[in-house]
Amino acid sequence: MPANILNLPGYRVLAVKETEHDYHIKAETDSPAGLCPACNSRDVVGYGRIEVLVHDLAMHGKRVGIYVDARRLRCKGYSKTFMETLPGVNPNRWMTNRLVKWIGQQSLRRTFTSIAEEVGVTEGTIRNVFSDHVNDLERSVRFETPIWMGIDEIHIIGQPRV
Ligand SMILES: [Zn+2]
Repeated sequence: MPANILNLPGYRVLAVKETEHDYHIKAETDSPAGLCPACNSRDVVGYGRIEVLVHDLAMHGKRVGIYVDARRLRCKGYSKTFMETLPGVNPNRWMTNRLVKWIGQQSLRRTFTSIAEEVGVTEGTIRNVFSDHVNDLERSVRFETPIWMGIDEIHIIGQPRV
């Protein structure tokens, strides 16, 4: 078993299935984070498993789907069940953080359709990641702008006044 095929810290690969266009990788976390999201209690017990699909970067020209055999946990204090935290995964998108980052970069210079096809997600998902990425870029530009304005102001102030 190629245990490190994912090269994603925090996971143990359980099985790999390869088809013409896809890798289906079954995995589980190697040290589950058992912290109740409601009350931060560590007093939690196992409550079965749930399989979740997480998209990852394409590998060897094939799309990668990680089928995580995630633990469900139950907080003893609240009797609430929740899913363990998945390391390296964006919880809003069911994609690895590294895939989200990659899509953000690619979306600036490629068609959304071609990216969607390459990684196996919908075009709408690509559009959403693109829009988040552009917002992040704009925020960082706005943050840098005052520095340049400051320099301009110094020049203006330094001009001889009539
Ligand atoms: Zn709790």
